[in-house]
Amino acid sequence: MVADRPITLDRAAGVLLGGACGDALGVPYEMAAPPVGEAVMKGGGLGPYEPGEWSDDTQMTLCVADVAAQGVDLTSAEGLDAVADAFSAWLVGGATDVGAQTRTVLAEAERLAGRPHERLTAASQALHERTGLTAGNGALMRTSVVGIWNIGDRFATARAARAIAELTHADPLAADSSVLWSEAIRVATTEGRLDLGAGLDLVTPSHGDSWAQWIEEATGEDPKRFVNNGYSVTALQAAWAAITTTDRGDASAMHLQRGLQAAVGAGHDTDTVAAIAGSLLGARYGASAVPTQWRRVVHGWPGYRAHDLVEIAVCTWSGGRTPGTWPSVATMADPAIGQLGLPHPIDPDIVLGTMSDLARTAELGVQAVVSLCPLGLEDVPAAGIPPRDHLEVWMNEDDSEDSNPHLDFVLDDVSSALRQFRAEGKRVLVHCRDATHRTPAVALRYAVDLGVAPELAERSILQAMPGIRGEGRLWHVAAHGISG
Ligand SMILES: [Mg+2]
Repeated sequence: MVADRPITLDRAAGVLLGGACGDALGVPYEMAAPPVGEAVMKGGGLGPYEPGEWSDDTQMTLCVADVAAQGVDLTSAEGLDAVADAFSAWLVGGATDVGAQTRTVLAEAERLAGRPHERLTAASQALHERTGLTAGNGALMRTSVVGIWNIGDRFATARAARAIAELTHADPLAADSSVLWSEAIRVATTEGRLDLGAGLDLVTPSHGDSWAQWIEEATGEDPKRFVNNGYSVTALQAAWAAITTTDRGDASAMHLQRGLQAAVGAGHDTDTVAAIAGSLLGARYGASAVPTQWRRVVHGWPGYRAHDLVEIAVCTWSGGRTPGTWPSVATMADPAIGQLGLPHPIDPDIVLGTMSDLARTAELGVQAVVSLCPLGLEDVPAAGIPPRDHLEVWMNEDDSEDSNPHLDFVLDDVSSALRQFRAEGKRVLVHCRDATHRTPAVALRYAVDLGVAPELAERSILQAMPGIRGEGRLWHVAAHGISG
């Protein structure tokens, strides 16, 4: 069976989500004391920000992403105008904090004549001629989505990365860093590997050797060595050091969390370094590797949450929105699917259901929802459920290894989210499309995690839910883990 959402789509969906989570995780520690123990999304920082709120890095990324998701050519004058307009509108209407160089260029461009992108590029160039210091990390921090905009064309990707960087950052090193990171994201998404050197032939030729050396210097190095990371080169090095020092070579989803902790640990511009690292880790490991505790709270300008980041990334990856097709569809509800609303045999405050149960949260008396299947724009959050209490989980229905690369991690993560909701005193609906495979597998893992012996848990779920598949990889891993 072909996966309903293939692995490359999972990875593309992880680019914005991973970057935003890095940003929100780094926000509390920007130019401040390092975390004691693990970094947490506790808010504060320069905004100050709410817990889980992202900052200018993700805000500016979304200016680019909202254009990219419309299927617009990011190398065209129209595409660059749209991005330039979005930056200017953001400065007036959305910016919670702004990098010094970006603010200067956006303000000076207002006084120039010409098309929006020409005014920005000219102001950026003028600043460079005046100061010679325009290689701040503000272009690199917002480049991520460029890596999934034209997934089959590395040259177009590089042209777009450079042109968008040059809107505010004229120094070729700033553009080069965006080119390298965008190409690394493109490679990670399409091939599932981390290779920052993949774009070395695309940088400014006279800087090629320096970039090769800078990458080598950062590989496996302590990210704290690059604490002076307001500069494009050192920000890239800090992010790459954080990724490579935490890579155990086991392709584990946990690398995403380890890498982001290390990125925040680099210090100084923590949100930016972690946003940069998060976009590449998200591309490598996918939306499915982003833990639910982060997805619940991550949010920010312009009023987006995890669902929106995934929708925008998926539409960018697929070349624009196709109305009526997931994710650009109002609802995934299907009247042909019956309701279930069955109490979990071990914990009756976990309600097992189908897509049709999503419309009756009040009737079921639930205060939280965990959705295991793709949802439409109006399905989330479900009626009466606060956005942070409606979790969407990236899990495919078929049993091939490729479609759920981190199955054990995801089952573990969902089960812990369920226990968390229950600890908060909430009754929870867990549902997928038709409750024949994903929902029972999660119900099974939850029972096992509550201490029920796997064989007994399997029997009780099978008895409670006759007609489920009750076999295959999802079911087996839910009961016994990946090695069982
Ligand atoms: Mg920031």
